Amino acid sequence: MSRHAVPAEVKRAVLDEAGHRCAIPTCRATTTEIAHIAPWADTHDDSFENLIALCPNCHTRFDQKKEIDRLAVRMYKHNLGILNNRYGEFERRLFEVLAKSNERVFVLGAAGDLLVANAIKDGFFEDKHVEGMGFLVSGDNGFSKNFPMTFTYWVTDAGVEFIRRFASGADIA
Ligand SMILES: [Zn+2]
Repeated sequence: MSRHAVPAEVKRAVLDEAGHRCAIPTCRATTTEIAHIAPWADTHDDSFENLIALCPNCHTRFDQKKEIDRLAVRMYKHNLGILNNRYGEFERRLFEVLAKSNERVFVLGAAGDLLVANAIKDGFFEDKHVEGMGFLVSGDNGFSKNFPMTFTYWVTDAGVEFIRRFASGADIA
């Protein structure tokens, strides 16, 4: 394994890209390590594009034990860029949780509809308007409105497929 120093600003950007966690969606352990996707020994490529955050365990499985496929790692890198641009932090964490649990139904609290707005727009989750807790606001002027405090969502077939592709390192573009 090469142990030369990647420029600090590149390393920081690579760690930031993955939220300082292992970029493998089913792992996501905290890390300060980065790995070369194409081996440094072959390419001497320290570019942002050729680097990815991996935890020590996954780094060893990738670099030394060859248990993690290079094409999959390349796709995790590609998907990170898409996820960061298209979805919020909450949605990205939710995809990870759902990838591990395989749950098809989940409940969110107040403002949950805002937190998953992008994923809903993309058809991954569906609000089936299950009666939940509400917060009634009424004013002197006759204004009265019930604001939902809970939101119940189903993961659609498209959502299941997206999460499967995300978790397995297939292209989510
Ligand atoms: Zn890991």
